[in-house]
Order: sequence, then C-alpha cells, then structure tokens
Amino acid sequence: MSAPTAAITIAGVTRRYGARLALDDVSLALPAGRITALLGASGSGKSTLLRLIAGLEPVDAGEIRLGEARVSAPGVTTPPELRRVGMVFQDFALFPHLSAADNVAFGLKDRPKPERRAEAMRLLDLVGLAGRADAFPHMLSGGEQQRVALARALAPRPRALLLDEPFSGLDPGLRAELRETTLTVLREAGATAVFVTHDADEALYVADLLAILKDGRVLQLDTPRAVYDTPACAAAAAALGPINVLRTQVKAGIAQTPFGAIDAAGCADGPADVVVRAEALRSIATPAGTGTAVARVIDRRPQGAVDLVRLESQGVTWRGAVDPASPLAIGAATAVAFGPRGVHCFPVSGG
Ligand code: ADP
Ligand code: MG
Repeated sequence: MSAPTAAITIAGVTRRYGARLALDDVSLALPAGRITALLGASGSGKSTLLRLIAGLEPVDAGEIRLGEARVSAPGVTTPPELRRVGMVFQDFALFPHLSAADNVAFGLKDRPKPERRAEAMRLLDLVGLAGRADAFPHMLSGGEQQRVALARALAPRPRALLLDEPFSGLDPGLRAELRETTLTVLREAGATAVFVTHDADEALYVADLLAILKDGRVLQLDTPRAVYDTPACAAAAAALGPINVLRTQVKAGIAQTPFGAIDAAGCADGPADVVVRAEALRSIATPAGTGTAVARVIDRRPQGAVDLVRLESQGVTWRGAVDPASPLAIGAATAVAFGPRGVHCFPVSGG
C-alpha cells in the first residue's frame, strides 16, 4: 500500500532574493489534519516558505503540490485565491469598520446571507467569542482580536491554514492561553496547519510534526519527541534547548572531554562533535573518585525544577543542572555525570 498523499508537498524548493538564498532546496511532506510547526531563528526562511505555500510569491526551483495539484513550479504560480489556503499573521489585520461577526462572515461571501451569519456565529463560538459577535475590533483585546482572526481564517474551510508567529505580539500569559485555544480549535476543525514560530517551547507544544529550519534549509522533520531525543545534527539539538558542544576525537566508541569520557558508541573513529544537553550534564556533589572528572562550579542560578550551573574544567565551560536542594556552592569542586539521555555524537566530515 502506498503512503497517503500529503496535504502539502514541498519538493526541492528554492527561493532567492537577489544574491540572498532564502530557501535552499527545501523538501517537506506535510500530512493532512495535522499541525506541522516550523521552528527556526529569525531569518531562517519560515515566512518565505509560508508565502510560497500561499502563492504570494513564485518559487525559483522545485515545486509545491496541494494534494495532487501542482500549484507552484518555475513559471507556474496558481494565485492565492484559487489555493484555498488561509493565513493568520502576528498583526491580526481585522477590518476595523466591521464587527467581529462580519469580519468572520467576510470569508463566506459565496454563501446565502442567513447562512453566513449562522456560520460566523458557529465559528465565533468555536473560539469562545459568541458573546462578542457585535463588537468592533477596537473594542476587543489583542487576544480576542487574534481569536477573531483565527475564526475568519477558518470560515471558508481552507484546505490548509498557515499561521505566522500568530502570538508573538501578545504578553506571555495571554500567549499561553491563546496557544491552548488555537490548538483545540485546529484539532476540532481537523485542520491541516503550518505553524511558524521562533519559540522552541511553543513549537514543541503545538506540533504533531516539527520541522527545524536554519539558513533556508530543513535540518530535520519528525515528531517533537523524536527531534528532541534523536536530533539529526548539533544545530537541530540546539534549536530545542541549551546544549554543550565540543569538537573532539572519538576512539573505539569513546569521546574524551574535559568532563570525562563519553560513550560515543555508533560514532566512527575520528573528529566528532559531542553534544550534551544542559540537563544531561549533572553535577554530583560526591567527592571525586579515581578516574572521575572534576569540575569547578562557576555559576549557579535557580530555574524552577532545577538550578542551572556553569561548570569549568580544563578551561572549558559547560552548562549543567543540579537539584535545587543540592548544597553545591559557587567555587566548589564536583564530580560530573552524564545522561543517559541527552548525549549525542556527530562525526565531522573532512574535519
Ligand atoms: P523568518 O520568517 O524565518 O524570520 P524570512 O523568510 O522572513 O525569515 O527571511 C529569510 C531570508 O530572506 C532573510 O535573510 C530575509 O532577510 C530575506 N528576505 C525575506 N523576504 C525578502 C524580500 N522580500 N526581499 C529581500 N530579502 C528578503
Ligand atoms: Mg518571519
């Protein structure tokens, strides 16, 4: 049996702005009815990819298919209005002179008028705003406006919804609340969605599938769990939280570091980057036994469930964590332990 057709297929897509390569041979298959998060730093090409999917700009190479239909290829750009793809941006872009209900109904122009109002009310109810149907945008809070924008984008029943950092203009509390609402609404609507963010926690929270973008390239596409546990490279690991990276030599499956020997089974002999997540490098305040690396604590800061520490050994500084109850003080010497999770080794070719 062949795999079901992806809702959105991006195959070898490249986009240039003058000499700037904004997207470099990007390939992604995005499944129907799922939320795919695109995570990357500012300038990594996230918005460009959304604009190409929406049909707002042409591709320079490669192609984009919506279902079976080829909508973008060099010389071919199906216009946005024929793609049935909805967009939600950071700036809500509601029509200021229309009520919430009329903003939502705007996308329903091809339906009979009484039906339009009923459908707009259903959508406002979905986003928890049935009581604010007749309010104008200036009467609504930022979070409410963004919920209206979401309802409006869903109104024409788009075959995919593209969300470009939809909450980045909102304060943290509201942001968390709206994230929850949006997730519920998208799931209830069974929507195929592409959710762009530069916030790792947000990406991990909303994603069924997570794509990591860097410098216009896709580093990895997998479930959030799989990207976290088995990153494809050091940069993919770094996208999801603080890491330590050390260029080292692997010999017989062991990488030597100033913090001790690290199991690098499966890593070929030769130069490699050892990646250790901050939470995988633990300071153990027992006196160092023979053969145990000793590090000095140079900083310690509370971070909720753990205290983050900076440890120094042989002139190298790494980030680690200790139990908040640990008596370990700045300046103390400590033994260190690793993992077992959160330790990865990547061979460096030609290094
Ligand atoms: P992101 O959304 O991840 O922050 P963008 O897709 O906006 O990244 O931008 C990717 C790269 O392309 C950046 O280097 C940006 O400066 C460049 N870029 C984006 N749009 C344009 C444009 N219209 N003209 C010139 N350069 C652009
Ligand atoms: Mg952007």
